[in-house]
Amino acid sequence: MCRRCFAESVEDKVRATIVRHRMLEYNDHVAVAVSGGKDSLTLLEVLAKMERNYPRATLVAVTVDEGIRGYRDEAMEIAAATCTRLGIQNHTVSFKQLYGYTLDEIVERIRERKNPLTPCAFCGVLRRKALNVAALEVNANKIATGHTLDDEVQTSLLNIFHGDVPKIAAEGPVTGKVHPRLVQKVKPLCEIPERESALYAYVKDVAFQSTPCPYAGEAMRNDIRALLNRMEERHAGTKFTVSKSIARLRPALAGLNGKSEFQACRECGEPAAGELCMACQLLKQIQ
Ligand SMILES: [Zn+2]
Repeated sequence: MCRRCFAESVEDKVRATIVRHRMLEYNDHVAVAVSGGKDSLTLLEVLAKMERNYPRATLVAVTVDEGIRGYRDEAMEIAAATCTRLGIQNHTVSFKQLYGYTLDEIVERIRERKNPLTPCAFCGVLRRKALNVAALEVNANKIATGHTLDDEVQTSLLNIFHGDVPKIAAEGPVTGKVHPRLVQKVKPLCEIPERESALYAYVKDVAFQSTPCPYAGEAMRNDIRALLNRMEERHAGTKFTVSKSIARLRPALAGLNGKSEFQACRECGEPAAGELCMACQLLKQIQ
C-alpha cells in the first residue's frame, strides 16, 4: 500500500467509527484534546481534513500544560506549531493556573508525604478536569480524544484487574450527557490500533513528541500492554476481539453504576458525585 492509500484507509476507518457510534453532528463545536503525542496529532490531522466538508462544524485544539520540567515544553511547542499549520486555534490551560501547583510540585509533595497514589493517578484526574474546563472556556459541546484501540482495550482490562467493573460501563467510545457542565467525550480513534495511528503520523510527516513522560507508567498498565502485544503477535486480531467483547458486555454492565446525582463541588463549584469533586479530593491530600 502506498503512503497516500494508507493515510486514506485510516481516514476512512475513523470516519466509519464516527458514523457508527454517532460521535459527531454536522454543526458540532469540537474541542480536540491535543497533547503533542502521536495519537492526538493524528486525530487532529484527520478531523481537520474531515471538517473541511462540514462548514457549520468547528474545531479548536485544547492543550493541558501539566507542568513537567524538561518534557512538557517541547510537546506544547509541537502542538502549537501543528495548530498554526492547520489553521486551528490552540487553547491552553495549565495545572499551575487551575490548581496552584505544577505536576512536578504535586509529585514532590506526594513523595514527601509518602502518599500511596502514583503521579499518573493524580495527573489522570486533574487532566480530565482541566480538559473539561478548557472545553467549556471555548464553548465546545464535544471533546474528542486520541484514545486508540490499544488504549481502550488496556483500560478495560485494567478495570477488570483492579476489580472496578462498573467503570467499564462508564467508559466507551462516547460518554453520556450526564450534566450540562460535563462536556460529552468522543474517541474517534477507538478502532485504530496504536501502530496505525503512529504510522499515519509518520506518513503524513506530522512531528510529534516521542520521549516518554518522566513519570510514565502505571506498572499494571505496562504489564497489560505487554501481554496484549504478545497475544496479538501470536493470535492476530486479539485486540479487536477483546474490544468487541467489552462492547457487547457494556449494556449489561450499565445498571451497575446506578444513577449519579451531581451536586456542585464545595471547593470549585464544578459537578461532583459527593461533596467534593475528585480533583479537589486529591488536592486536599497534598495541601
Ligand atoms: Zn472541586
